[in-house]
Amino acid sequence: MKSIAQRLRVRGRVRLRDWDPRDTPGASDPDRAAKRMRTNLERIDDLQYRLHAEGRQSLLIVLQGMDTSGKDGLIRHVMTAFNPQGCNIWPFKVPTAEEAAHDFLWRIHHAAPPAGEVAIFNRSHYEDVLVPYVHRLLGSGEIEERYRIINRFEAQLAERGTRVIKLFLHISRKEQRERLLARLDHPLKRWKFSEHDLSERASWRRYERAYEAALTRCSTDHAPWHIVPADHKWYRDFAVAAIVTDALAEMDPRVPKMRLPLARLKARLLR
Ligand code: AMP
Ligand code: MG
Repeated sequence: MKSIAQRLRVRGRVRLRDWDPRDTPGASDPDRAAKRMRTNLERIDDLQYRLHAEGRQSLLIVLQGMDTSGKDGLIRHVMTAFNPQGCNIWPFKVPTAEEAAHDFLWRIHHAAPPAGEVAIFNRSHYEDVLVPYVHRLLGSGEIEERYRIINRFEAQLAERGTRVIKLFLHISRKEQRERLLARLDHPLKRWKFSEHDLSERASWRRYERAYEAALTRCSTDHAPWHIVPADHKWYRDFAVAAIVTDALAEMDPRVPKMRLPLARLKARLLR
């Protein structure tokens, strides 16, 4: 049976209309999925412990998606499986003046996970191909060059022992409207709303095209993209937990074997 990661993995040219945001491949019942997810969260906890002890490999999880697609929700509900000591979360916003004065990977490379650790990118270097595409800030040749730079950069991370998992949270335009309306209606969520969300929503079709191009050009063997159907929050959380668990299990981090003179050490403790 195909794993969730295999089912959602991008291969070849992406057309988003071929990917249904309401789909739930590999899971049909929300309660059973929640149960399987909890088991996976426990495995993540154990595998991260081993990753830290091993101290050689690292894990980078890249979250991308339209506004309200659930990047923050995932961080709250799934990424909490990681021990905060050994996991950094990096939200990437519009570049500051200092960031903008450097090459676009400067702030990104700085945030890449050191050996033994996990890093989660809430938005990423992909903003640097998406936003220029949508707002026509760069020509197609310059954007093409950035895809190449990104692929090379990710290959370099992989070579160093960093596993790169890229997740596109795919919601429908209709679902986004519901979530933005809910944001406006809910006194506790209202602060999250910005008029900027509406102007970006107006560019929905261009964002789709920008994502199609980036997912097509930058899904590689060393850093594959996954398209996670995200209209159903339960499925989104379930699928991401499954993909992360599988990746960590494949990395197979091993606690270093210690050859200690146990009897002598214990005798000293018991003295
Ligand atoms: P949020 O994730 O809702 O807090 O919003 C962050 C905003 O920063 C989004 O509108 C992103 O498109 C924007 N952003 C992040 N990185 C970049 C970038 N490299 N270039 C332009 N805009 C960016
Ligand atoms: Mg936002």
